[in-house]
Amino acid sequence: MHILLMGPPGAGKGTQAERLVDEYKIPHISTGDMFRAAVKQGTELGKEAKRYMDAGGLVPDVVTIGIVREGLSKPECRKGFILDGFPRTTEQAEALDDILKDAGIRLTAVVNIEVPDSDLVDRVTGRRICKSCGATYHVTFNPPKVEGVCDKCGGSLYQRDDDKEATVKNRLKAYHSQTEPLIGYYKKQGVYMEIDGTQAIDKVYADVKTGLEERAGR
Ligand code: ADP
Ligand code: ADP
Ligand code: ZN
Repeated sequence: MHILLMGPPGAGKGTQAERLVDEYKIPHISTGDMFRAAVKQGTELGKEAKRYMDAGGLVPDVVTIGIVREGLSKPECRKGFILDGFPRTTEQAEALDDILKDAGIRLTAVVNIEVPDSDLVDRVTGRRICKSCGATYHVTFNPPKVEGVCDKCGGSLYQRDDDKEATVKNRLKAYHSQTEPLIGYYKKQGVYMEIDGTQAIDKVYADVKTGLEERAGR
């Protein structure tokens, strides 16, 4: 399975990716996670990325394409991957086509998780993440058993710097202007699949899985 997860900020990409990783044992490549790791390590890449992330804008294509190219070159990506949050621009999508072509990989599906903007601000501002294992929670929609503590590993939960209302609005603008046009791009390639992301997490996952297995079996 070579899966691409698309959708606006807060649609549930990371949440669904966690389940897909458990089920298919394939690597999860999230550009957002890669940038946050670089910020934490204080690398030059992290310093550059942070400027854009804090403003709710996109990190420049050259930088982003470079880290994805490196991530996808790992041998474990040959049997499958879940690309989450990449591509976000047409230039990134074209670069990905080249990377995949060189590696002889065809996408199984591009899964677009659809959620209206009116739901997304609450989703993003209520998001909490485990410091230790990266698991994602929501203060109301998917709370941990004990407030502030990860169910899976006991780690403490934190809120991302960019998960504030003002930043989310900019991220939604960037999504609509730069990322949404990719729907047409992938429809043309015949790999596009749409999922109703307003349903409960388990139901979204059931739909994703059914759709993927239909496509993988073709
Ligand atoms: P979300 O899934 O909530 O939209 P991500 O964790 O995917 O957030 O991304 C967080 C931030 O990292 C983005 O707002 C953007 O600044 C940067 N980023 C992540 N992926 C990309 C990408 N493919 N291109 C440019 N910037 C990116
Ligand atoms: P993305 O990676 O697309 O930005 P996340 O998977 O991090 O999105 O989800 C954003 C927030 O919404 C998280 O707090 C998550 O727990 C919550 N969430 C995810 N899917 C659903 C859903 N189907 N219904 C309600 N809340 C959800
Ligand atoms: Zn944890």
